Amino acid sequence: MPITYIPNDPRAGQPPNGTIAPHAGRPAGLAGFVFQNVVAEDPYPVGSDGFLFWQCREAALRAVDLWETIDGPLTTWQPGQTLRLIQKGGQPQLNAFYNRNSLSFFEVSGAGATYQSGASTDVVAHEAGHAFLDMIRPDLWSAMVGEQGAFHESFGDCIAILTALEDRATRQALIAGNLLRQSNFVESTAEDLSHGIGALIDPNHNAADPRRAFNTHQWQFPSALPVNGGPGELINEVHSLGMIFNGCFYDTLTNIFDAGADQSEAGLLAAAHTTGRLLAAAARTAPLQSRFFQSVGNAMLLADQDMNGGANAAAITNAFAAHNVTLNAAQMLATTSVLAGRAPAANVGRVTDIITRASRRDLVSKVGKAVQQRFLAKRYSFGSRKVAAVGHQHKVPLGDVSEKLAGVVCLVLEDVLIGVDDGRAAALGMMPSVGQSVAEVQNFVYSLNEAGQIDVDSEGNTETTHSIHRVGEERRLVRTRFSCTCGRYH
Ligand SMILES: [Zn+2]
Repeated sequence: MPITYIPNDPRAGQPPNGTIAPHAGRPAGLAGFVFQNVVAEDPYPVGSDGFLFWQCREAALRAVDLWETIDGPLTTWQPGQTLRLIQKGGQPQLNAFYNRNSLSFFEVSGAGATYQSGASTDVVAHEAGHAFLDMIRPDLWSAMVGEQGAFHESFGDCIAILTALEDRATRQALIAGNLLRQSNFVESTAEDLSHGIGALIDPNHNAADPRRAFNTHQWQFPSALPVNGGPGELINEVHSLGMIFNGCFYDTLTNIFDAGADQSEAGLLAAAHTTGRLLAAAARTAPLQSRFFQSVGNAMLLADQDMNGGANAAAITNAFAAHNVTLNAAQMLATTSVLAGRAPAANVGRVTDIITRASRRDLVSKVGKAVQQRFLAKRYSFGSRKVAAVGHQHKVPLGDVSEKLAGVVCLVLEDVLIGVDDGRAAALGMMPSVGQSVAEVQNFVYSLNEAGQIDVDSEGNTETTHSIHRVGEERRLVRTRFSCTCGRYH
C-alpha cells in the first residue's frame, strides 16, 4: 500500500508531495529504529497521525540510506543503545531532539496552523544526523566549546541537505531553475519549524528565519558575536553559529559540482556524495580542538588526499576561505613545539606510550597548569597515516558565568597531536592553552545560559540541552540532549 510523502519540508514548497511505496524495514544485523504507535500503510491525508507515522519513518530511513552511502553500513547506534522514533512526543512544543535513546518530534497548534516537526524530512534527517555523529564521535556529546557544539548542529543540517539531494525531482528542480547558487529550498532547512517560531513565539526570534547554507557568514570568535539577534542573524548560539560551517559545506559541494564535467542532476548527485564522504571521514578524524570548523576542514583536505588524490583541494580550501576559515592541512600535522622525552611508541595503548613523564611536564609548562588536569591516550587515522594524540582534560569552574551556576563545574577536553621530531616527542598543529580553553568554555556556557538551554533545577525540561548532575560531591554541567529549539521561548 502506498503512503503520502513530503520529500523536503512541509513549507519548502518543492518538490510536490508524492504517493510512494514506503521504504522496506532495516535488514537484520544493521541498526534501525524502534517505531512507536505503528499504523497500517495507507495514503493518509497530510496532518493526520497515520500520515505522520509513515512520513517520519520514511524520512528517518532515507537519512539512514544517505548515511550508509557516504559512510558505509550502519551497524550500531551509540553502543548498547536502541533508538526509538517518536513522531509525536507528549507536551506540545515546537521542538525535536536526539537524546541517545530516541529521535523525538512534537506537534503544536496555533495561529491557524498545526506544526509537526516529525513531518519535515529536513528536521528528521537533522536529528538522525546528531545520532550518526554521536555514533562516530561520542566525545562531541560532552564537548564544552562553542564551535564543537555548533558543528553538531551543522552536521545535522548537512545530513538534511544531503538527504534532500538524494531525491531526483529535487535535483532536477535545482538544475532546471539554476538555483544552486541562490537561496533555494534545499540549502534552507526546517522552514515549517521556523515559521512556527515566528507565528507562535516571536516574529523577531533569531530562529524565525530558516537556517541557510547558502550564506556569506564569516567566522569570528564566537565570543565576539552577540548572544541574540533578529531572524537569521549570526549570533553566538549553536544553531546559528553552525551556519558558518553550513556555508563551508554547501560551498564545497557547489564548488565540486561546478568543477565537474557533468552539470546534470546526476553530476549534482555525484558531487553531493563526494562532499558527503569527505564530511563523514573528516568528522571521524578531526582533532577535538577549539577551532573545530578549521579542524574538520583540514581533516576534509586530508580525507580528499586519501580518497581522491587531492582532486578537490581547491574546492574545499576556497569554500572555507569564503567564510573566513583558513585551512592548511600540512600545518595541522607540522611540529609546533618539540617536547622533552622520546617519541611516541609505535603501538599506542596507554598515555605513557605517547608521552613520557618528561614530555608531560614539558607539555604542562606549555599549556599551563589547570585544576584536575589529566591526559588521555588517543589516536587519529588520516588515511593510512596514524597520529598519536593526548586528550588534555581539566575542570572549569562556572560560577563566574552566572550566579545560578555558583559551585557548578564542567570538564573540558582538547586534543594535542603528538608526533616525532628528530627522535623526540613533538606537539603538532594547534597547541591549546588552559587560559584560552577556560575562556572558550565559559563563553559557551554563557551562550547556553542566555539561550535558556540549561535546566538548572533538573526539572526535565525537554527544551533544554544541559543539566546539572551530582558526581560525588561535585555539581557538574552535562549534556542531556541535542534539542533543536533555540531557547528564549518563554
Ligand atoms: Zn540539532
